[in-house]
Amino acid sequence: MEPLSNKRKVLVQKPLNFWERIYLPAIAKGLSITMSHFFRKPVTIQYPEQKREFSENFRGMHSLKRDEEGRERCTACGLCALSCPAEAISMIAAERKKGEENLYREEKYAAVYEINMLRCIFCGLCEEACPKEAIYLDGDIVPAEYLRKDFIYGKDKLVEAPLNQ
Ligand code: SF4
Ligand code: SF4
Repeated sequence: MEPLSNKRKVLVQKPLNFWERIYLPAIAKGLSITMSHFFRKPVTIQYPEQKREFSENFRGMHSLKRDEEGRERCTACGLCALSCPAEAISMIAAERKKGEENLYREEKYAAVYEINMLRCIFCGLCEEACPKEAIYLDGDIVPAEYLRKDFIYGKDKLVEAPLNQ
């Protein structure tokens, strides 16, 4: 059998003609393409002054909801954390004390509730799993931060503002 090296084709480079050697036509062609883009509608927008409209099923930052009386709906059942494929949710449950009926809807509530936004893939499974309609991904885009710890969102960022605010 003939060795592979004998089957290789020898490539011969075609010599450049006069116009190719002075490069001017190629430069003029490149510039004409650049110039043609000046007269097209720009596809970029001036973010953050200008914002694109989100689609109806856009999933943004999570918010922990209150009921019609302003009480936190979350009962720290853990179903959202269990359904989260990114293991982004963690919480510590606590028992409601006497006198806290106007703060928490049920006897159990989340004393600590955290979402790691660097892990979250905004799949919406936590929202679907919640039996109390307590969590929705109806917020804005998660803003950029410099430190990893600033992407751990606690109740201060997640629970929606009380009714009288
Ligand atoms: S949106 Fe998905 S990834 Fe993000 S916290 Fe909810 S279940 Fe986890
Ligand atoms: S947000 Fe919903 S699913 Fe998650 S712990 Fe609270 S009540 Fe349970």
